Amino acid sequence: MTQPVSTADVFSGLSEAEAQARLVAEGYNELPRSSRRTPLRIAFEVIREPMLALLLGGGVVYLLLGNLEEALILLAFGTMSIGITIIQETRTEHVLEALRDLTSPRALVIRGGERKRIAGREVVRGDLIVLGEGDRVPADAILLQSQDLQSDESLLTGESVPVRKIAADSAPPLTERRPGGDDLPFIFSGSLIVRGSGMGEVLATGPRSEIGKIGHSLRSMETEPPRLQVQMRRVVRTFAMVGGAVSVVAVLLYGLLRGGWLDAVLAGITLGMSMLPEEFPVVLTIFMAMGAWRISQARVLTRRAAAIETLGSATILCTDKTGTLTENRMTIAELRTADGKSFRTADKPDTVLPAAFADLAETGVLASAEIPFDPMEIAFHKLGKERLSKHDIVGNPDWGLVHAYPLRPGLLAMSNVWRSTRGRGNSLVAAKGAPEAIGALCHLNAKEFKALKGSIEAMATEGLRVLGVAHASHRGTDLPETQHDFEFEFLGLVGLTDPLRASVPEAVSDCRSAGIRVMMITGDYPATAKMIARLAGLDAESVVTGIEMQALSDDELALRLKSATVFARTLPEQKLRIVNALKSSGEIVAMTGDGVNDAPSLKAANIGIAMGGRGTDVAREASSIVLLDDDFSSIVKAVRLGRRIFDNLRKAMGFIFAVHVPIAGLSLLPLLFGLPILFGPIHIAFLEMVIDPVCSLVFEAESEEDDVMRRPPRKKDSPLFSGALVGWGLIQGTLAFAVLAGIYLVALRQGMVENEIRALTFFSLVLTIVGLIFVNRSFSASLLTALIRPNRSLMIVVVAVALMLGGTLLWPFATSLFRFGPLHLNDLAVALTAGSAVLACLELLKPFWRERLKA
Ligand code: ADP
Ligand code: MG
Repeated sequence: MTQPVSTADVFSGLSEAEAQARLVAEGYNELPRSSRRTPLRIAFEVIREPMLALLLGGGVVYLLLGNLEEALILLAFGTMSIGITIIQETRTEHVLEALRDLTSPRALVIRGGERKRIAGREVVRGDLIVLGEGDRVPADAILLQSQDLQSDESLLTGESVPVRKIAADSAPPLTERRPGGDDLPFIFSGSLIVRGSGMGEVLATGPRSEIGKIGHSLRSMETEPPRLQVQMRRVVRTFAMVGGAVSVVAVLLYGLLRGGWLDAVLAGITLGMSMLPEEFPVVLTIFMAMGAWRISQARVLTRRAAAIETLGSATILCTDKTGTLTENRMTIAELRTADGKSFRTADKPDTVLPAAFADLAETGVLASAEIPFDPMEIAFHKLGKERLSKHDIVGNPDWGLVHAYPLRPGLLAMSNVWRSTRGRGNSLVAAKGAPEAIGALCHLNAKEFKALKGSIEAMATEGLRVLGVAHASHRGTDLPETQHDFEFEFLGLVGLTDPLRASVPEAVSDCRSAGIRVMMITGDYPATAKMIARLAGLDAESVVTGIEMQALSDDELALRLKSATVFARTLPEQKLRIVNALKSSGEIVAMTGDGVNDAPSLKAANIGIAMGGRGTDVAREASSIVLLDDDFSSIVKAVRLGRRIFDNLRKAMGFIFAVHVPIAGLSLLPLLFGLPILFGPIHIAFLEMVIDPVCSLVFEAESEEDDVMRRPPRKKDSPLFSGALVGWGLIQGTLAFAVLAGIYLVALRQGMVENEIRALTFFSLVLTIVGLIFVNRSFSASLLTALIRPNRSLMIVVVAVALMLGGTLLWPFATSLFRFGPLHLNDLAVALTAGSAVLACLELLKPFWRERLKA
């Protein structure tokens, strides 16, 4: 590792065209997935649902009764509704598949001389991959460069102690490529870089990699929130048990009282179908998958479906500063030498740096990576290229980088050691980092330190990010363990601007009105943090530093957290303390993070948010959502969508509750009182065909409530099926049933023919259901907004219902099948009135439930 490693241009990697050709020839870098739900498998699952058994049972009974036509139609309806389910679930599966591709690990490769982030599955043999702390290795590779690199290969070897890796040219000639063991140059797909950095050439991808050979897949994505699923199962079970019991009793009653066991079974099946809550689980799956998809349109990936639910109840949002609130586009704005002279780049554009500042600038460049990736280091390189007239070392082929001391949370400084290949001259050590850290490395005395502090404050209060720069000379080839062992000389300060993202102030104020407190936790200097916080619209009165935090007990910290919103010079570990303190005072915490050390706090937070752009794989794996563009306002968009999705889920659930009451009631009523039977399985199957798409398409697409971001967060344990929701559903259903039963009984009393009564009641029922759709579209009480708010799916459903109803009346075959008599105009008027009356009545009642529904 001591011989100079070659400079950038040697490593230009594959060209994009070569890489594409290889991708075609050798396939994606991924393992065959077994868990994929093909339409066939979905069909299989759907067929196992009890609804189909009931449909088939109905068909058989019809056959036994000699009604071939009915049997066939029922089967046709059954097939159709299975078809709808399969289409929907396949679509859901496609959505999830697309999301999985997005969540799959990415890789940083060098192609055509440029660094690019690509999807891990697109890595090919021969690609140059760049690896840093916290990265998952995307494919098996041999290391060409290695800086202090250690890799955790436990996934492959079961051995949890990380192994040290070295570059190929310093390793002994190699025989075998196998995971495990120190000081080897091979790294393996699926292992984790826990320390250092390096660059490697890919040797094997996909199934040819070591992990591929053992067929182990890392990918996982939870698709449904477990908590909701549990609640859902409970409700479905209750429904099914009650429905089953009622159906059996109905069959017995019918058989004993009226005779005709086949008819009795048919009535039982009708009742069973009318009570079966098969929409509940379908709605949950579809809403969550579509929700994840909608959120991904806002450039946010959901890794755990539970996050969608939790997002709506977040009370605190802890965000980092650089790159999330700001754009992470750094420009060097000011240079200050050790003796206090200042140079502002904006004042004198297009001039080279005066000699007094040239050394400071060049050392800054030398203290950066050779191929810079960090925006600050890119800024240094840019300044060097544009403003330095002479270069001593930068770009000089005689000089090479021999060692790098990386930034560590304990010492916010990094150093690069440069050595000339000619002669035995001293090495140059270039350091940059937090000014306090650099000051400490330079052993400044009290007076010098005070002067430095004044300069830092002056620059930081303008919102500049301030770095200190120092250099040292080192004799000999042995390098010390730590940066402290060099004799550093302080050169000066560099101030960088990083503009606030334009969307941030609005997003922050959205959070405020939505009852979400925004806190900034940054590793940056307090004065810089304060300025940026103020620009973002945060309450930046008091700033708590990491050192102050250390002195606080847990109780004191909890107290501080009530008022403080800006945390500066915080260590990653301290984020965990903050999360835990907030959680124990009852807050629901969303927390952003990107580094390896952030993983514990991302896991501990109720919603861990990783950065997709600059975040490490470890952080992504620990988080429940990932921001693709690292933008703070995307979080707020996701919160907004999360609230909307949960609202819509509850609207759909409320509707399902409501709609089952009149259907089951009308099936049960005649049985109980020995009146003419209204509905058979065919009617119920028809209704199901309307209800299913309504629940999953119409409610899913419903737009947000006006006040989504103006109401406080939902209480954290508020159940999906709250008492208010179930109660409101039952009220709606009971009212609808009362109206419909009234119509039925009055029609009976007036001596209408049975088939006409059936047609009248059925039409009234369908129109009432349409009324219920409108009632449940919105929690807000304005019927007008509910009516005019656009929803394409709703329009389609309404038109389809009208067509189908028309068909049952005008097409003699259908009329006889449904056993409908002719429907007169006044009957139609009755049906329409029933629907509108229920709608109007419930809209009037809604204000009394509105607040409870939102809780
Ligand atoms: P933030 O919370 O704003 O992302 P970081 O944790 O990334 O802050 O950085 C904390 C401090 O570490 C910075 O203020 C800076 O002083 C120092 N630092 C970060 N990156 C570098 C670097 N590439 N070179 C030198 N110093 C750095
Ligand atoms: Mg950072």
